[in-house]
Amino acid sequence: MPDNDNQYDYDLFVIGVGSGGVRAARMSAQYGARVATAEEKYMGGTCVNVGCIPKKLFVYASHFSEDFHHAEGFGWDAVTPQFNWDVLLKNKNKEIKRLNGIYEGLLEKAGVTHFDGRARIVDAHHISINDQVVSTDKIMIATGGWPAMLDWPGIEHAITSNEVFFLEKLPKRVLVIGGGYIAVEFAGIFNGLGVESNLSYRGPLFLRGFDQDVREMVRDELAKKGVRLWFNSMVSKIEKQSDGTLQVSFEDGSTMETDLVLCAVGRNPAVDDLGLENVNVECRENGAIIVDDDFRTSERNIFALGDVTDRIQLTPVAIAEAMVFASTQFNNDPKTMDYDGIASAVFCQPNIGTLGLTEEQARAAYGEVEIYRSTFRPLKHTLSGSDEQNMMKIIVDKATDKIIGVHMVGSEAGEIIQGLAIAYKAGVTKAMFDATIGIHPTAAEEFVTMRESV
Ligand code: FAD
Repeated sequence: MPDNDNQYDYDLFVIGVGSGGVRAARMSAQYGARVATAEEKYMGGTCVNVGCIPKKLFVYASHFSEDFHHAEGFGWDAVTPQFNWDVLLKNKNKEIKRLNGIYEGLLEKAGVTHFDGRARIVDAHHISINDQVVSTDKIMIATGGWPAMLDWPGIEHAITSNEVFFLEKLPKRVLVIGGGYIAVEFAGIFNGLGVESNLSYRGPLFLRGFDQDVREMVRDELAKKGVRLWFNSMVSKIEKQSDGTLQVSFEDGSTMETDLVLCAVGRNPAVDDLGLENVNVECRENGAIIVDDDFRTSERNIFALGDVTDRIQLTPVAIAEAMVFASTQFNNDPKTMDYDGIASAVFCQPNIGTLGLTEEQARAAYGEVEIYRSTFRPLKHTLSGSDEQNMMKIIVDKATDKIIGVHMVGSEAGEIIQGLAIAYKAGVTKAMFDATIGIHPTAAEEFVTMRESV
């Protein structure tokens, strides 16, 4: 329960109604705190409006092109389907609007006072929103992140993931710049929608931080599907031509003509013009707010969580952090966040599902490790005509037999890895995998039938 005597207008003021902010506000209010929120753009934040949800809808849309084609091997007549971008956009926007309403309703139902507008910290206990100033005991900064932009000449002709969800017209050709999961997902989305899709990354291989086998497998599968991959590729400038097309120049002297450049080179913590100069909140060099295990900043009554702290930038992580915060501060039930064994997916085509350590990390952290790996053609593709492959990999600590990493590239890898994450949290061993009877015929059964380490 809140411990002040209505000295302030609110017990908690949450800046930003995204994945973390909305949960922190709702749970704290349910525990009895007097809570207010401010949001300057959209209810639900990045995930709902320009992140996970619309992206996954686009992934579904883009997958149909090969599904239609694969159906022919199963006896369906060949069709030449027409794709209508306007319909996808309209239906996506309608769904997002519905979700915006749900978020609004959740806050309202929890008794949270909401302000539309940009919030600024005036001092440790005051927030300004538009022309209004309110007082609060505690402040939660949940302002998320913002796409990073490079400073090449002509970068103003490029768009970011913020705009890609609202394109008026589907381009014929696209160049995606970046090597993170968002770049890789969008290269696949455009390719599936029939756009000539190019991906340029400055390093030798994209998806840094993922297991090497996963990175190589995704490279090969994307290339097979027709995505043109340009590694060790450095853009030097972008020029708009008189016919509206874009000419991209690279440092090696080559050029590319395209209709759209999507710059997906990472995200920065959203701390600009937040009023941090008015308080004692320490940030890392990139602006990320530094917090302790209770999400407390160096200013005792100011907290931060989610992407603005630049730790694990995922929606379920921001939500879990918010639950820990609310329980600790307003329910007299202190909790700490457990960051071990957080599974994640990349919705490239085929998907990546990943959990725990990569082989490289495991070899560095453990004495001896056993690697189990299987690459195979899924049953569906024996008739579909596709030569798409699946890859599954298990990493085991030899001394304890514990599973310390699981990785998959393949259809529905994101769905499959979730169940394995539960087993991982329960301390699953390889012997337990071996004792589990598979479900036949599935791709997932491969996880419990791998017997020979490589
Ligand atoms: P956000 O959700 O970003 O919310 C912050 C909110 O604060 C925003 O609404 C912003 O408008 C508001 N705000 C900022 N400053 C102010 C201010 N001064 N005053 C008022 N309001 C303010 N994660 C996954 O788990 N799975 C995925 O598949 C996935 N896909 C993604 C795809 C893309 C293209 C992107 C960009 C992100 C994706 N993410 C995904 C990441 C996920 O969206 C974020 O980790 C998550 O939204 C972080 O939540 P948050 O609460 O920290 O911030």
